[in-house]
Amino acid sequence: MKLIIFGPPGSGKGTYSSRLKERFNLEKISTGDIFREEVKKGSELGKKVEEYLKKGELVPDDIVIEVVKERIKNCERFILDGFPRTLKQAKALDKMVKIDAIIKINAHSEILIEKISGRRICSNPKCDGNYNIADIHKTIDGIEYILPPLLPKEDMKCDKCGSPLIQRDDDKPEVIKERLRIYEEQSKPVLEYYKRKRKNKIPFIEVWMNRPPEQVVEKIIEGLKNLGLVR
Ligand SMILES: [Zn+2]
Repeated sequence: MKLIIFGPPGSGKGTYSSRLKERFNLEKISTGDIFREEVKKGSELGKKVEEYLKKGELVPDDIVIEVVKERIKNCERFILDGFPRTLKQAKALDKMVKIDAIIKINAHSEILIEKISGRRICSNPKCDGNYNIADIHKTIDGIEYILPPLLPKEDMKCDKCGSPLIQRDDDKPEVIKERLRIYEEQSKPVLEYYKRKRKNKIPFIEVWMNRPPEQVVEKIIEGLKNLGLVR
């Protein structure tokens, strides 16, 4: 089973792909994770990648394609996250393998902004405690969102270590809006390419992020069942 997952920042796609990975024994291939690891290791690739990131530039298509090609070479079961990000990458992927399905997570920007703005992390750098104070119950264009908060037991203190909770600068509305805009701009041509394709058309599984992750994952699995990809 070979899958791609698309979803805007805050749609929880990292969580869904991790759950699918465990449930169906898939390899999760996230270009973001690979690059972060390589930078940390200080490998040749890592050094190159770091230069682009320092300049605030995207890693060039040729490098990204080469990395993914290497990773999926002998891999029969995977889920791609963060790739393909450009048309060139999508076309290169077409030449490498046959993808079985594209999972697309939908969510209204208003909800994503509210959800991401609600994130709180533990201020202790050694602790990975994370929470969400957003309590979302609303219907937009006929989509009913029920997304309960994930609160600490004690007011604004981490359950694990008792440190105060803070908001990351990246999770503030102005920054989120810009991240969503960039995602829209980048993903639009790629998704249109897949929808337009006539030959070897890849089926889409479209799911709304309108319930907690375990329920969204169930909807994705239902889509995979309908396509006969899982039992
Ligand atoms: Zn903590």
